Order: sequence, then structure tokens, then C-alpha cells
Amino acid sequence: MPKQRSVCVFCGSRDGNSPVYAQLARQFGHEVAARNLRLVYGGGGIGLMGIAARAAREGNAEVLGIIPGFLSTEEVAFDDCQLEIVDTLHERKARMAMESAGFVVLPGGIGTMEEVVEVLSWANLGLFPMKTVFLDTNGYWDPFFALLQHSIEEGFTSASISTLTCRAKTSAEALDLLGL
Ligand code: AMP
Repeated sequence: MPKQRSVCVFCGSRDGNSPVYAQLARQFGHEVAARNLRLVYGGGGIGLMGIAARAAREGNAEVLGIIPGFLSTEEVAFDDCQLEIVDTLHERKARMAMESAGFVVLPGGIGTMEEVVEVLSWANLGLFPMKTVFLDTNGYWDPFFALLQHSIEEGFTSASISTLTCRAKTSAEALDLLGL
């Protein structure tokens, strides 16, 4: 499947405290499959990562999981997909970006934040101008956007970051925003 038909998802390796997060991840995986897209993700079988990947596979979507070897036990590498084992977290993120047409960010923890902030900084520097859509429920990403706005208002981040960063409430809306 070409990268033009592939979407990369960043999301938590945990489920979160409310069942709404798992529902969102499952629904996202189903929507990816319904659109005949390939899901590119971190390759784990746990948390929202595992839920989204399983849902995509339920709908017969192609799934490419990219996982560093040292995490394959801890993150329970998902074996019902094309699994690529890499050496480092940096390599994982670079490969995920290389294989995808855009990013969707579901709720997640510090690892998810690290991944998305790095791709936003690449976009901000004009290195890798791929669109990033934050898909959330319960306003999960509101504080992140408040911080971004604060940083723009205080003169540390260019307002142009907004052109590459958007928000969606449904999986369909998120994939529409990426033109997928
Ligand atoms: P978390 O949101 O903390 O549950 O982490 C989500 C995923 O991000 C996990 O698969 C982590 O292994 C992964 N992750 C954490 N830091 C990095 C990084 N620097 N580069 C790539 N993936 C990362």
C-alpha cells in the first residue's frame, strides 16, 4: 500500500481511565479499514495502540507496525500485522513518518506527546510539512492546545503552526481533514 493511502496514528500504550478512549480508538481503526487505508503505528498490542490496530485488522485493513526490538516484549508486539523491528525510538518515528501521508493523534501519554511534538517541530521548520489531526473526546487535548496558544501569544511559536495542526471530533472528520 503506498504512503499516499496510509495514515499514521500516535496514541497511548494505555487504555486511559474512561471507556470512551477505547471506543474512539476502535472506531478509528474501523474507519481506516472502511476507507481501505493502511494503518501505520507503533506495533504494540496494548492500550489504545493495540485497540486501533485490532479494529483495523477486523476490517481487513493492512497494518504496518514499527517497533524497536527492546520494546517488543514490554509493548507486546502485535503479530497480526506486518511488523518491522527497528533499533531505536528515533528510527521508529522516522519510519512511521516516511510510510504515511498524515498523522492522527488519539489520546495518549508522554510518549504520544513526544512523538507529536517532534513531528510538529519538523513541520514548523518546514522539514516535513505533513498535516497532523488531533482526534479526541472528553476534550482530552484541550490543555495541549491551550499551551500551544499561550506559546503563540507569548511570541515563542509562530501562529503558522495552526495551518498544519487541526482537531477533529470523529474519525471520519479526521481522515477527511487529511484528504484520505
Ligand atoms: P504513551 O503515550 O506514553 O503510552 O506512549 C505511546 C507510544 O509512544 C509507546 O509505544 C511508546 O513506546 C512510544 N514512544 C515514546 N517515546 C517515543 C519516542 N521518543 N519516539 C517514538 N516513540 C516513542
